[in-house]
Amino acid sequence: MANPPPRKCIFCGGVGNRSGEHLVANWVRHVIPRTTDYHEHRSIRLASNMSPTDLVKETVKFKQGNLGNQTYSRVCKRCNSGWMKRIQDDVIPTLTPLIKGEWHDMNVIDANRIALWTAVTATVIAMSQDTCGVTTQDRQYFFKNQGVPPKWTVWIGRISGVPEISYCNRVLAVRSQFQSPQIQTEPNTLVTTIEIGQVLLHCVSAPYEDLLPNPFSYGWNMGLLPIHPWGGDILPWQALPILSYFSREHRNVRDFLYAAMVLGHDISVL
Ligand SMILES: [Zn+2]
Repeated sequence: MANPPPRKCIFCGGVGNRSGEHLVANWVRHVIPRTTDYHEHRSIRLASNMSPTDLVKETVKFKQGNLGNQTYSRVCKRCNSGWMKRIQDDVIPTLTPLIKGEWHDMNVIDANRIALWTAVTATVIAMSQDTCGVTTQDRQYFFKNQGVPPKWTVWIGRISGVPEISYCNRVLAVRSQFQSPQIQTEPNTLVTTIEIGQVLLHCVSAPYEDLLPNPFSYGWNMGLLPIHPWGGDILPWQALPILSYFSREHRNVRDFLYAAMVLGHDISVL
């Protein structure tokens, strides 16, 4: 089933009181004040004869409302004020300087906190859209383990020129070769990029290992540092390029992997 039952919390499955969960956490407004009353909405169109580098057929619309004010009501109060609040509280001291462009040494604890926050944020963003994109099993994993589920990869990067906050959410329903075509597949593959101030967070989840790129070579090619799995000091953050918002390099981060998956290109070379 593509969509979770509407009355149930997307994480614990409980039917208790709802709360309005901000898609991008409300504390971010203290670091990036909300000044605009509109946001950009971009979508891409793919054709089967395209190569991923042809991704230029993009539509840009401006929609009303600041992106930071958007909320989603399918998270219960217990989750929102319990384990999810702890994840927020843990990440604020680590993520705030990065949003401001003040990068410092990162250890495995910092990396884990940012990776978990990114994965939960990507989940709330994805589930707020009609296409969903995170499986019931993975959403329950967050609730039960407060950790990043298996087959999720998270990268971090540096960016300039972001209009406050921004995100891009791409979803696929990938069927296993053993699955009957008659059975509807739950959307299970997610490619999400979140830009806040001067930090970029990129996360990918897929049901099968062979749909995931190598986190280190892909990160190197895209100018990103893998933080989950954490590879230690393989690529120090000082070496990261500062991507320019909506430059070709930035658009590649958002679109390239998703396009390669849709078009059936070999992603093992990424
Ligand atoms: Zn809940």
